[in-house]
Amino acid sequence: MNIFSCPICNEILNNDKKTYSCSNRHTYDIARSGYVNLLINQSSGGVHGDNKLMVNARKMFLDSGYYQQLLKATENTVASCCKSGMTLLDCGCGEGYYTDGICKTLLKKFENVDIFGIDISKDAIDFASKRCKEARFAVAGVFHLPVLDRSCDLLLTMFAPYCGEEFQRVLKTNGQMIMVIPGVRHLWELKQAIYAVPYLNQVKDYELDGFELQSVEKISYEIELNSNEDIVNLFSMTPYYYKTGKNEQEKLKLLEKLKTTVEFEIITYANMC
Ligand SMILES: [Zn+2]
Repeated sequence: MNIFSCPICNEILNNDKKTYSCSNRHTYDIARSGYVNLLINQSSGGVHGDNKLMVNARKMFLDSGYYQQLLKATENTVASCCKSGMTLLDCGCGEGYYTDGICKTLLKKFENVDIFGIDISKDAIDFASKRCKEARFAVAGVFHLPVLDRSCDLLLTMFAPYCGEEFQRVLKTNGQMIMVIPGVRHLWELKQAIYAVPYLNQVKDYELDGFELQSVEKISYEIELNSNEDIVNLFSMTPYYYKTGKNEQEKLKLLEKLKTTVEFEIITYANMC
């Protein structure tokens, strides 16, 4: 079943091979790679997610397998929440590395599972729809999801902006949200190599309005990067990348090898609304 809704009138969208359209005749073309762009006000300016360069860096890094352990752990958590007939929405799915892995795992284990991915970056969504043919993708922001009320059993948010009200609106009551965030010591050695005074990540309070905390799983392991390209790609995926001064950039350019801790938390919640 489709869960995408019209970003103008909120009616359900139906699709044929070329377009999605609502009963009020708002239509949205399906791109050649298979996604639909449901972002309105595209000319309003501002940044619309990762550009092609950033998406490429992320894709190259993830495709090298450094985060495979995280992928496996997330696949297991999502599979443990899933049942046949369920609908999963990946909010802020990026270039689809995790969406694709999770999708393949779920389709192997369950029947009639529908998987959807949304990201505000058109370049990222283009990659995602080329990578994963079993899921449906749309360009849209997580703060205004073009998704029907109460249509999702599971919602995944990995390193993506959080919008509790929207997530609760699209989740069924007792539907589950699986959130993945960086842990306290994530990329600690990378930060030590670059910053004069590195800081630990702050992990925020687990309590979220309207959600009941169900489980927290911590994952920590070491990765070994053997080229400057991999190191720069990894660094460019972090929020620090945009705040880095000239000195730090010079240090980054000179790094050829690095062992660093990667640390994540997979947190599961139930929607109580
Ligand atoms: Zn409409």
